[in-house]
Amino acid sequence: MSSRILVLTNDVNDADVLTKVLRGDRSEPFDVESLRSLGAGIDRLRQGGIDAVVVNLGLPDSQGLATFEQLHAAAPHTPIVALSAANDEAPARQAVQRGAHAYLTKGHFDCGLVPQTLRNIMQRKAIEAAFYTEKARAEIALNSISDAVICTDLSGRVNYLNIAAEAMTGWSREEARGQAIENVFRIINGVTRQADFNPVELVLQRDEVMGLKANTVLVRRDGSEAAIEDSASPIHDWDGHITGAVIVFHDISAAKAMTLKMAHLAQHDFLTGLPNRMLLNDRIAQAVTLAKRHNTHLAVLFLDLDNFKTINDSLGHATGDQLLQSVTTRLNACVRSSDTVSRQGGDEFVILLAEGGHEESAALTAGKILAALAKPHAVGDSALHVNASIGISVYPADGLDAEALIKSADTAMYHAKGKGRNNYQFFTSDMNRRAVERQLVESHLRRALDRQEFVLHYQPKVNLATGRVTGAEALLRWRHPDWGLVLPDRFVPVAEDCGLIVPIGRWVLREACGQAQRWIESGLALASIAVNISALEFHQAEFAQALAEMLKQTGLPAHRLQLEITEGGLMRDAKASAKILRELKSMGVQLAVDDFGTGYSSLSYLNQFPIDILKIDQSFVQDIKCADDTGIIVSAVIGMGNNLKLQVVAEGVENQVQLDFLTTRQCDEAQGYLFSRPLAAEQFADILVNGMPARLGNEPKVASCCQ
Ligand code: C2E
Ligand code: MG
Ligand code: MG
Repeated sequence: MSSRILVLTNDVNDADVLTKVLRGDRSEPFDVESLRSLGAGIDRLRQGGIDAVVVNLGLPDSQGLATFEQLHAAAPHTPIVALSAANDEAPARQAVQRGAHAYLTKGHFDCGLVPQTLRNIMQRKAIEAAFYTEKARAEIALNSISDAVICTDLSGRVNYLNIAAEAMTGWSREEARGQAIENVFRIINGVTRQADFNPVELVLQRDEVMGLKANTVLVRRDGSEAAIEDSASPIHDWDGHITGAVIVFHDISAAKAMTLKMAHLAQHDFLTGLPNRMLLNDRIAQAVTLAKRHNTHLAVLFLDLDNFKTINDSLGHATGDQLLQSVTTRLNACVRSSDTVSRQGGDEFVILLAEGGHEESAALTAGKILAALAKPHAVGDSALHVNASIGISVYPADGLDAEALIKSADTAMYHAKGKGRNNYQFFTSDMNRRAVERQLVESHLRRALDRQEFVLHYQPKVNLATGRVTGAEALLRWRHPDWGLVLPDRFVPVAEDCGLIVPIGRWVLREACGQAQRWIESGLALASIAVNISALEFHQAEFAQALAEMLKQTGLPAHRLQLEITEGGLMRDAKASAKILRELKSMGVQLAVDDFGTGYSSLSYLNQFPIDILKIDQSFVQDIKCADDTGIIVSAVIGMGNNLKLQVVAEGVENQVQLDFLTTRQCDEAQGYLFSRPLAAEQFADILVNGMPARLGNEPKVASCCQ
């Protein structure tokens, strides 16, 4: 589209010549409109679409410079070229000084000069417009970013601040303009508190980019401070000469505070604010180094609250937490500032007595702690009582590093628990934690039956062809008042060792058979109940008779009961096992070999045992990792089971891949977390009534014993 020129002159001749010249331009003809008065010209300009004006400053309604000024005011961005009389160029020159783009002297219009001049002017205008847009964009960008930006000239005087810099420094752009950079951007070293060398000076001297030093702190105009980070760079003109510097920075106070907080969190216990295990280990390591150098001692106290779990369970976690905080305060009050009280988690605390930690002073501190903790703790409206058991180890006799010292103190703590709690014990080399724990478990087991602390959980068994729950395996749990829910692995071996497994096993059988019969009587579709029998029970002379009585008492039909005996248990005395199994079989109960694959049974024996079910040990099932896994053992057991006409049950099925594998190979039944964890009786009954929900709730959290 060609450019449109407004010619404003009442000299008809000039208007004609100009119109002709512009319209007739060979390279790029212009559109021309011609008017004769300023008023008409201004009206036309306001309508828009005019790219440049050529004006005779002497018009009927306006003369001289005023003509230009009124036109310029009406269209400030439209280029204006003044026409000047040959004998008086002064007004036209003045117009150029005020912003006219050029002037042309009359008498020289009839040549290529006029179109060329106008073309140049409009090109320049296009460049200016582009430059303006670029500048506006830069300004918006600089004001939108969160980084603060300050620019200076070559002498280090501020000539620009973006909005973030205004906010950070407290200086407005107008106030800062012309100020020396050190006034606006005042920085000190956060550690030494000395004024820091201003990076702008260095940038201007060296003409290179500078990063800010670590720990730089900006002092704002009002004296407040902010930790900052960033860099300063030189600004160059288009010849590459340095013309100033720009400094870009941002507030890192929040990030710094967060880093400090994270570091603290990583080393401290959230609830009590005490050093955690990690920091304690560091402190012990340091103390060991010092003790080694000075040939001195140090002591580590392992403290565990007695019966804390009861308080936590009965009064709630919030109360438990407050009690732990109260304990923390008392512990801190009993030690010196050079000692470290740390929380290991739960209700366990470890205390490092770093100085003079020889036996007498450690005993003194332990006694002091027991006395301090024994006083009632005010938590909410109640006064709580709590005692502790403490084990003490001493460097270097009981360990040479943090790990060994803590372990020894822990063992001694168990000993203190065994000795009736609320006391402290020094570690001695004949202490063995396992033995102590075993002893402790045994002493508690003896009371567990009377106190009705046992309970059965039931894990559903699923028929893989129909997807239906066919029965359950009864799994024993011990609800210890202090230790919480204890799993069989922790106490069944102890019960076997001390013979307690026999009465416990009887209780399990009676409970499981009774429960199963009640379910069956109430119309629930329960095909069978599986009960684990320890080898020790099984080999007992009276076992079969006791079982017969139990079935009679509870009314459960014998074929509904599956007895699970581990492969290892059967193989311990294979001959005797075969005999007992036959006797049991004759009663009509079903027999299962549990944990099959782990007990090194020989096939010849297996053939002699009148068994009905093989339970593939979960370790083999869990070895199946992907769909095309060979799962040789699992496949072989299923194949063997089919040949021997035995039912095969897979244990420990945890994922779909394992299930698919077993289904493809036609394993009969499966149990595992994929279907359900072991459940309380009511929950299992619910499954029998309503079928298996998509995901089942977990078994209650299991606590470690001897807390
Ligand atoms: P088990 O008879 O082989 O029982 C299966 C064990 O595997 C159970 O552990 C069960 O909770 C767990 N389990 C089930 N599904 C999964 C799974 O998908 N993944 C994993 N990782 N584990 C799963 P629990 O209840 O701790 O019992 C352990 C062992 O204690 C039993 O092994 C059994 O040998 C013995 N036991 C349990 N109850 C009694 C009992 O009443 N009397 C006797 N004598 N022993 C019992
Ligand atoms: Mg079992
Ligand atoms: Mg098993």
